[in-house]
Amino acid sequence: MVTEKYLLALLIFILTILAIISSRYTRRLSRERNLLIDRGAELEDLVSERTRELVEAKNQAELANKTKSEFLASMSHELRTPLNAVLGYAQFLQHDPSNPISDAQNERIEAIQAGGNHLLKLINDVLDLAKIEANKLEINLEEVVAQDVVREALEFVVPETEVRNIEIFDAQEPEIKSIVRTDRVRFKQVLLNLLSNAIKYNKPNGTVHVSLEELGGYVRIKVKDTGIGIKPDQRDLVFEMYDRLGQDSKTASDGTGLGLTISKMIVERLAGQMDFASEEGVGSTFWFDLPLATNNQVIIWDDRLSVGVEFIDKDHGRLVDLLNQITQQSIDGKTVDSIVFELLAYCDYHFKREEAVMEACGYPDLDDHKKIHRDLLDQANLKAQNWHSNANLKSLDDLRLFFRNWLVGHILNIDIEIQQYTNQYPDIVQAVLDKHAARQI
Ligand code: ADP
Repeated sequence: MVTEKYLLALLIFILTILAIISSRYTRRLSRERNLLIDRGAELEDLVSERTRELVEAKNQAELANKTKSEFLASMSHELRTPLNAVLGYAQFLQHDPSNPISDAQNERIEAIQAGGNHLLKLINDVLDLAKIEANKLEINLEEVVAQDVVREALEFVVPETEVRNIEIFDAQEPEIKSIVRTDRVRFKQVLLNLLSNAIKYNKPNGTVHVSLEELGGYVRIKVKDTGIGIKPDQRDLVFEMYDRLGQDSKTASDGTGLGLTISKMIVERLAGQMDFASEEGVGSTFWFDLPLATNNQVIIWDDRLSVGVEFIDKDHGRLVDLLNQITQQSIDGKTVDSIVFELLAYCDYHFKREEAVMEACGYPDLDDHKKIHRDLLDQANLKAQNWHSNANLKSLDDLRLFFRNWLVGHILNIDIEIQQYTNQYPDIVQAVLDKHAARQI
């Protein structure tokens, strides 16, 4: 009996001790939990504040960039008009039969013209660059015989070859006609830039060979010179803006360091690509590809594809750009993989922000539109997996053709409707885009 009482008392004692310990422990746990919740809330505040700052900074940077491009575009116009007057009057002085000038005066006028022409080239280049950066480069697509453009460009540079004593060879097959779908003026501009470099950076009595060949769905135009070449360690700088690889203005006074940057950007806008091979002291071959008119896999972005909503056009432009990158025959499997991955990820990002904006602006049939987006992603993912497990040209063709047809059809038939809903509410659109950007960061 005594033992039982004793055991009961001991049990009660132990339970009391346990209860005290447990209640202390629970209090401590709850204190720590509250502390954690407070810290969590503090961190959340901090993250959203930082995100807000980042979005703000991003918006400001975008605005500054846009303002810069607009400023450059308008300044370039303002500068061009008086400069053309200077050049026009200089020419008039040179050829005015009623007031003939002396040789010394003629020399000075030529100096005015050389300076003026250099400035004009710089202004034109800056204007082009501003347009490309602001996504405002007008593209007029037409079917063009590539060989005709090459011949015109070759005729144009004859005076330059004579001044520098360079012989130029047209290595095209006369009977072949390659029809490209492109902007004729821009095509010629790019080729003239390559020809002018091949002449300018050549050796005395050097040669330039121009040739043309069809490769897959593209025509490749090659300009080969016997010039000074480019050092291997300068390879990556060639397409950099304003980089002249240490050229001093006496060797090539008419350069700006912008020509190749602009040319590469233009070629990419025309769904092609540009590159070069070079050996120092031996010469360089610069080439670019443009899609043949029969190439139905590329999309060349022009105004017809614009739906009139800035962020959507920008996203579509990026998708087209990525799609055209996997349409190049020469890129290897690994590069294709990473571009396909980026294409799908960007597509998903674009759909989500487009849907969020549409919802906020009261777009009807949103559910149908969302379903179309999901179906596209499902099918595209399947095709990407197929390409991944059977990496051959057929599976790649299948993927890019599917994407191309889908994108063009969707933009022209469905997305074109979005403008009438979104453009009434620019503030709402901006707010949704900011919120979406915040989630992305
Ligand atoms: P620019 O000729 O106005 O300097 P580009 O952008 O056309 O500018 O060319 C950038 C630089 O690349 C040139 O300054 C020159 O150093 C180098 N370069 C371009 N083409 C050739 C070439 N065919 N041979 C050797 N170097 C070249």
